[in-house]
Amino acid sequence: MSKANNPSLKSWVEVKPESDFPIQNLPFGIFKTADSTPRVGVAIGEYILDLSVLAKAKLFDKAPWPFDITVFEQRELNPFISLGKPITTAVREIISDLLQAENAELRDHAELKTAALIKQNEAEMLLPVHIPNYTDFYSSQEHATNVGIMFRDPANALLPNWKHLPVGYHGRASSIVVSGTPIHRPNGQTKANEALFPSFGPCRLLDFELEMAFITGRATELGTSISTAKADEYIFGLVLFNDWSARDIQKWEYVPLGPFLGKNFGSTISPWIVTLEALEPFRVDSPMQEPEVLPYLKSEGKKNYDIQLEVEIIPENGKSKVVSQSNFKYMYWNMAQQLAHHTVNGCNICVGDLYASGTISGPTPDSYGSMLEISWQGKRPITMPDGTERKFILDNDTVVMRGHCEKDGVRIGFGECSGKILPAI
Ligand code: CA
Repeated sequence: MSKANNPSLKSWVEVKPESDFPIQNLPFGIFKTADSTPRVGVAIGEYILDLSVLAKAKLFDKAPWPFDITVFEQRELNPFISLGKPITTAVREIISDLLQAENAELRDHAELKTAALIKQNEAEMLLPVHIPNYTDFYSSQEHATNVGIMFRDPANALLPNWKHLPVGYHGRASSIVVSGTPIHRPNGQTKANEALFPSFGPCRLLDFELEMAFITGRATELGTSISTAKADEYIFGLVLFNDWSARDIQKWEYVPLGPFLGKNFGSTISPWIVTLEALEPFRVDSPMQEPEVLPYLKSEGKKNYDIQLEVEIIPENGKSKVVSQSNFKYMYWNMAQQLAHHTVNGCNICVGDLYASGTISGPTPDSYGSMLEISWQGKRPITMPDGTERKFILDNDTVVMRGHCEKDGVRIGFGECSGKILPAI
């Protein structure tokens, strides 16, 4: 395990106990300020460390080999993460050294410190990566079972393929936006069960899906595949992911090819990519898989991660409510299996690709990862503190997702994945 994960490390930058960004985290993102162009930063406490400033001061000269430091002045992380894990991991470790309480190099260099540390509340976070491709899996057994019970047969909720392969589909990359970007309620075709013909108008059953997503940091050639044993070498890090879903549009359109306009009007990600290295201490065993999976899907070791998740709904002028508390560890199919399955036919992957987990539901109703399940198709509405009810998401509601890991006195988190729903255009 990286020395940067040592629970006893402390930084000279003040980090509050409830912060998502202690020295053991050091996630990467893209930010800009009123005076600066977009660039690469690392979150520490309430600050962002500007890596372009550190690079110009030659603080990354200790990396294993020289690299082009203009990667830190780009508006996306792709050039940086393309350098490969030996460099990206070394950069994280150099930053960890620089921020340690006893290291005076940056701490006592007033001019450099002032230039390199920016208050997060004075910066705008941008989409961290250019995303060439987006795939959405369907890997939570609890979620797939709930949907199967609601829409098909309670006795055979899971379809016959579900325990043999990580079901997924190719989503839309162009409409993935960074946290804080508002989304308009989509218009589309819907058809009531009793109606003869469809009608057109604003979606009435707008939902969130609580997901996590991994971003690949290394490309492959068409015609090659990635084994479960090698998958971690291709995963740069993880973000929170809200796969906004228009249930009524989805219901009418999805037969026989799957999700389309019910999903592609927008998806929201958190701005900080938490590296796989930072998540290393939080690995846990995967759930038992029964029946046994085919050999190419077998994986060794701890492949799940204990990441506590929550979803909060904030009405425009009312009190907010946490409507779900779930955990990434519940996933039936792990990321290594998803990547191995995705590429087993020779499909190539790109740097910056985003692979979402699918809705992460836990075993109890308060851990379900979508309003579809929480309100059970609208049959069990939830009551907000202001007395209003929610079956699905209303105009001007803001949905905020958060995630963090906690172990040995260390708490690392993902920041917020937030989006407000505006009225239909
Ligand atoms: Ca989804």
